[in-house]
Amino acid sequence: MVCVRLSVAGRRVCVMDSATENCAGGAPGPAVGRGGRPAGPGRPASLSPSRAADFMQCPLLYRFRVIDRLPEKPSAAATRGTVVHAVLERLFDAPAADRTAVRARGLVPGEWEKLLASRPELAQLFQGEDGAQDPALLATWLGEAERLVERWFSLEDPTRLEPAERELFVETVLEDAGASGLTLRGIVDRVDVAPTGDVRIVDYKTGKAPAPRYREGALFQMMFYALVIWRLRGRVPRRLQLVYLGSGDVLTYDPVEAELLAVERKLRALWEAISLATDTGDWRPRPTKLCGWCDHQAVCPEFGGTPPPYPLPLPGQRGGPSGGASGGPAVPAGEEQGRMDPV
Ligand code: SF4
Repeated sequence: MVCVRLSVAGRRVCVMDSATENCAGGAPGPAVGRGGRPAGPGRPASLSPSRAADFMQCPLLYRFRVIDRLPEKPSAAATRGTVVHAVLERLFDAPAADRTAVRARGLVPGEWEKLLASRPELAQLFQGEDGAQDPALLATWLGEAERLVERWFSLEDPTRLEPAERELFVETVLEDAGASGLTLRGIVDRVDVAPTGDVRIVDYKTGKAPAPRYREGALFQMMFYALVIWRLRGRVPRRLQLVYLGSGDVLTYDPVEAELLAVERKLRALWEAISLATDTGDWRPRPTKLCGWCDHQAVCPEFGGTPPPYPLPLPGQRGGPSGGASGGPAVPAGEEQGRMDPV
């Protein structure tokens, strides 16, 4: 496994791998979480797999999303992921024998309409160059969603599945010796429980399976969920299963307790780094080729932009925004679609 160190407030903190105690410890930092500094407006209060991945990708991106809460353009791929997830969840409302591909495809337009009703701004995804709605664009997009739903039937047989949970919101608090805690939360697509009590966590992706060298990153989200469910239920999930509808692949992994403990150490180190950046306002950009998908290039120093004033108090200030602090003294997400992440 690889150890990646991020520079936060002039200190190096390991966040990518805490398989060893040395890495896990990272640099000592301030007490964080519920028992640490009080969580004020805009302070990160919890960690989800998506936001953890944001910070590991680029601390400044995390700041823009979690603290500044800058708006982002709707994405056709992420929106399609949301609709497909809704269809795969709804299908299990039907009796087992009725969970057919035809029924599933038929659910797609209705789930899209429901989503559009709750988020009217998504209509802009299907505007032509003249700004008017383009029915052909929408029809193509719906067709792609239907094909993804149909492919699922070549990977799993919903007539033989009775999920214990669907779209399960999970949350737990990792307490530590300093009485502070880290709230972990997320939404698990599906939880299957065997008669033996063995738990399988399933996540759907509408993108393609990653190349082998990138699978560790894809597995991180699943290990995160496995840790939370282990903490909640006292039993290590037997299997983690990623279902890639874009490429028709299923990746599985059977975690063991020691690996989940390593994930826990990694998350504690990550939270420490996030808390330190929150306190200091030192959110450094970390440019990679993923910048091509970032909505915030216009305010990113790596692209000649200036971040908005930091909205949280900085050391030496008493309340109120910084009135000009930046993305840090340095001043200077791909096709693996889940769904629009609400946490
Ligand atoms: S453009 Fe790249 S470096 Fe800048 S905030 Fe986005 S992901 Fe980070």
